[in-house]
Amino acid sequence: QRPVLHADADRVAAVVAGGERDEPLPEAIRFDAYRAAAGYRLWDAVRSGEIAGDAVVAALDAAGLRGLGGAGFPAARKWRTVAAQPAPRFMAVNIDEGEPGTFKDRHYLETDPHRFIEGMLIAAHVVGIDGIWIYIRDEYPALRRLLAEELDRVRAAWPDVPSIEIRRGAGAYVCGEESAMIESIEGKRGMPRLRPPYVAEVGLFGRPTLEHNLETLWWVRDIVAPALAGEPGPFASRGRNGRKGLRSFSVSGRVAKPGVVVTDAGITLRELVEEHCGGMLPGHELYGYFPGGASGGMLPARLADMPLDFDTLGEYGCFIGSAAIVVFSQHDRARVLAENAMEFFAHESCGQCTPCRVGTAKAAELMKQPAWDAALLTELGTVMMDASICGLGQAAPNPMQSVLRFFPHEVGVAGKNEEGAA
Ligand code: SF4
Repeated sequence: QRPVLHADADRVAAVVAGGERDEPLPEAIRFDAYRAAAGYRLWDAVRSGEIAGDAVVAALDAAGLRGLGGAGFPAARKWRTVAAQPAPRFMAVNIDEGEPGTFKDRHYLETDPHRFIEGMLIAAHVVGIDGIWIYIRDEYPALRRLLAEELDRVRAAWPDVPSIEIRRGAGAYVCGEESAMIESIEGKRGMPRLRPPYVAEVGLFGRPTLEHNLETLWWVRDIVAPALAGEPGPFASRGRNGRKGLRSFSVSGRVAKPGVVVTDAGITLRELVEEHCGGMLPGHELYGYFPGGASGGMLPARLADMPLDFDTLGEYGCFIGSAAIVVFSQHDRARVLAENAMEFFAHESCGQCTPCRVGTAKAAELMKQPAWDAALLTELGTVMMDASICGLGQAAPNPMQSVLRFFPHEVGVAGKNEEGAA
């Protein structure tokens, strides 16, 4: 006999009806306060023609703004590409934030949502967008309510802005992938598309689509306004170890003060932990870290002095992605973390292509063996990386391969115990 769930029925009904739970709204900067502090001044100048769209795009180009959802594609090039496509053009904003360890978009939305909305409106105006869809993860119900309220104020202030719709995600990691998100917005099952064509040409409802992560748009005002005033903006004046700009690191794990750290692109893990996170937790020593969430692979403590940025970690089989830094210590086992990540990918695989659907499940099973079959896992990982349709299957082997490369002593594979395992 099936159990009858009475206790939570009201809450379940409320969630099904709209996900409205009794979570208080965050103490964000609301419309009036944002406007009073020079907010939407750049938007006013762009929409009135006082500032030309070309100047906005040139400022983004000069600052080197790249897609901060993880892919790192140059924002200005994306704007130009979509603007060159025939109308109608659409825009999709990704606030799915599903990469394990990432919480920066949440931070920006719950503190200063209008800085993002202003960037979104400027992008829409410059590129000539006819409709905007914002895709927000359902685990952020209070933020969705906040966003809806503030968008109402924006529409009241400027009734001629393009239509803006909020769409709820449903907890699928793969829907953070841009083409799967577009499928989901269209009301279909969230499965990545084969490319080409790219979404800039054939995206939402078959139309050219500008797709951006929330944070990329959040920085537009702070980059463009100073640049056009002839002043150094945050991206022009920051950066270290040969890198340029700012990055928002979501730091978690065995550090004293986890949280969102906005600091120089190119900072090293050691500098990040010491300068911004209060060091390691008492009794913990650095053993390794994920530089880019579950998909960005793992690095050992001896590589804690690498500049953290796009394109700096490739030779180690890693990438920074959305800058989700997960720090682990001598009390952790890299193999356990990698097994956990592979099980996550197996669970989240959309099942559309065999290398990912079968490969993640097979790898998760093989990784449970006390001693790993390095040759078999390496071959399997290569097939997954080479033949999977989307980034999920292509990146799923990264933590596994990091263990084989940097922590072989944990899995009974011949190799030097370089990481000083306890
Ligand atoms: Fe789906 Fe995985 Fe293939 Fe991506 S790689 S399309 S998630 S089965």
